[in-house]
Amino acid sequence: MSGNISRLKAVENITTQEKASVEKTELLDNIWATDVFNLAKMEKALSKKAFESIKKTIQTGEALELDTAEEIATAMKEWALAKGVKFFSHIFYPMTNATAEKHDAFIVTDFDGGAISKFDGALLIKGEPDGSSFPNGGIRETNAARGYTAWDPSSPAYIMHTQNGATLMIPCVFASWTGEALDKKIPLLRSNAAMNTAAQKVLNLMGEGEVSPLNSSCGAEQEYFLVDEKFANARPDLLLAGRTLFGAAPAKGQEFDDHYFGAIPSRVQVYMQDAEDRLYRLGIPAKTHHNEVAPGQFEIAPYFEAANVAADHQQLIMTVLQNTAKEHGFICLMHEKPFAGINGSGKHVNWSVGNSTQGNLLDPGNTPEENLNFLLFCGAVIRGVHKYGPLLRAVIASASNDHRLGANEAPPAILSVYLGSQLETIFDDIKEGKLSPTDDGGIMDLGLSQIMNFKRDSGDRNRTSPFAFTGNRFEFRAVGSSQSVSGPLIAMNTMLADSLEWIAVKLEEALKGGDKTAAVISVLKELMLLHGSAVFGGDGYSAEWHEMAVKERGLKNLPTTADALPYIQDAEIIELFKSTGVLTPIELESRYEIYAEQYIMSIEVEAKLVIDMAKTLIYPAAVNYLASLADAASGMKEMGIDLDSGTAKIVAARANAMMAAVNELIEASAKEDFASTNEHMKYCADVIRGLMDKVREHADTLECEVDDTLWPLPKYQEMLFIK
Ligand code: ADP
Ligand code: MG
Repeated sequence: MSGNISRLKAVENITTQEKASVEKTELLDNIWATDVFNLAKMEKALSKKAFESIKKTIQTGEALELDTAEEIATAMKEWALAKGVKFFSHIFYPMTNATAEKHDAFIVTDFDGGAISKFDGALLIKGEPDGSSFPNGGIRETNAARGYTAWDPSSPAYIMHTQNGATLMIPCVFASWTGEALDKKIPLLRSNAAMNTAAQKVLNLMGEGEVSPLNSSCGAEQEYFLVDEKFANARPDLLLAGRTLFGAAPAKGQEFDDHYFGAIPSRVQVYMQDAEDRLYRLGIPAKTHHNEVAPGQFEIAPYFEAANVAADHQQLIMTVLQNTAKEHGFICLMHEKPFAGINGSGKHVNWSVGNSTQGNLLDPGNTPEENLNFLLFCGAVIRGVHKYGPLLRAVIASASNDHRLGANEAPPAILSVYLGSQLETIFDDIKEGKLSPTDDGGIMDLGLSQIMNFKRDSGDRNRTSPFAFTGNRFEFRAVGSSQSVSGPLIAMNTMLADSLEWIAVKLEEALKGGDKTAAVISVLKELMLLHGSAVFGGDGYSAEWHEMAVKERGLKNLPTTADALPYIQDAEIIELFKSTGVLTPIELESRYEIYAEQYIMSIEVEAKLVIDMAKTLIYPAAVNYLASLADAASGMKEMGIDLDSGTAKIVAARANAMMAAVNELIEASAKEDFASTNEHMKYCADVIRGLMDKVREHADTLECEVDDTLWPLPKYQEMLFIK
């Protein structure tokens, strides 16, 4: 009965521990980006020529020359050594949601046994991790497993402090020797380039004089849960799967949005300040705050940055949150649905595109010209969501996010786009020809003033939409909390590139008519007739929408990863990535393989855990309780009292039913022969998941029947409310 003892001990320890006091943190100015080798530091340390060269590389993506790299490597090393750093690491983003590191020491021993610090331009630019342990989806044979990492100069190097000392971290791309992308950074950079090329075409056609390179921007809102590690240590499911596979609903759930939410527990506040402090030193402009939705759930939102840097920073935020949590005795759960029946965690990806000459193209702007550019870019997004909705669904597909999507707390698994009433009316009018040009040369009817006076309106929100316009950007709200933002950003940039290419062709033709406004309206009219059915402003949670979306609008409802992932292999998606140069068919195929494998693996791990926990923790608790009831009953009998056996019957019946379900799950899990990966995924989604739920239902009923002091697993109300 050690299980129950550790659970109750945990409760006691946590409730009697000394409460943390709020620490004083240093002034922001003193710590901001102190651990980042950014442009400001390079400007001080580099020759003017080298500095101009690296600046140009960052702005235009041009390759870095080796002599510049030498100079930067030396400066970087000196800066790092002066800060007590002894190691450096190439950091990269394999095709999982993880971050990978390859550590090296600056110090190498010379022939005389003396230590010299060796870190030159070549080492800065290129590294060689043993890539064989990273998933490659069949791209590399193991005998050619080596891949290489190369510095991405657009993402600055930084120092990571750990208990083992400080390490200089160098953000890198990761590719195979044959040039295939093995990571999430390369396609993100390529998608940005494709978007830039297409956007340049459109803006040039629109008569814009100077058009500087366009970049996509991202600001991601990260939700997470904090649970005391003492509880987590008593829950194998939290430790190994990141979510509770069992647990009855607490008497007090999120329906009580009362005083609890008023104040952040001081322990959490200290944690948040500590995490913020670390992020500021890393030059990450993030602000943590309390999330008002679920107990124990919080949010952190960094200020938006260039997508590539934002994606790196997002990975770093997850790492810092998790590492800092450990030091404060918490476990930070990034899982999309750690607690059944309690709101899950998402990661809203705010996204826009712009440049220094035209500004943010998803901002309506103040002039008629800006309005027209905006309408074209916005139209391009509408077309993208319509044409590539299944892709958007596929890039956010995972075993964990499936619990959230469509569960009436998060956006549905149907991809539609929300524009807000004002903008929706404009696009409707364009579609219905209410804004068509008049015969006598480009002067438009009444609707014209409406377009020209279009102002951004950020108050208009629809929380039920997976993809919403929020005044000067789109917010992809269906992304899961544990996911890398790269996948969604790649999909959005690429679909935008494709749509802008389409628009450029149409626009060039339409402009032959002579009038720019008329040309834009006619292109958008055609676009809306083809793709306007993705625009939806109503309640995305409603049953009517689920029916209408599929039957009347022809949109796809893809509730599980098993439904969504196969679209990555769709001919249209393969062509999209090929034509834009973002991913070759081989690279795309490898991604499908990896994501499918991850999906299957995570469900298999969960199924094993369900079996283990039911057999070794829950069943014994029920049996112990039955034994104690039997003891009590015989004792009572001696006293001439009959104990009602109702509870014992319920417990026995549920325990038996649970074990029967466990045996069914064991049998089902043994199946190995699948005709295809798709079929295997489907089996996990339809059969394994269902059986896991069946086991859980009995176990959760037992939790409500069995003596509290005999129950081995920390309960929901303890994990959610005791801090
Ligand atoms: P919400 O109202 O959705 O909770 P927040 O203010 O918490 O909004 O977060 C919005 C996020 O969107 C922030 O990361 C913010 O920096 C980002 N953001 C703001 N403007 C843009 C933009 N033009 N492009 C991309 N991201 C943006
Ligand atoms: Mg948001």
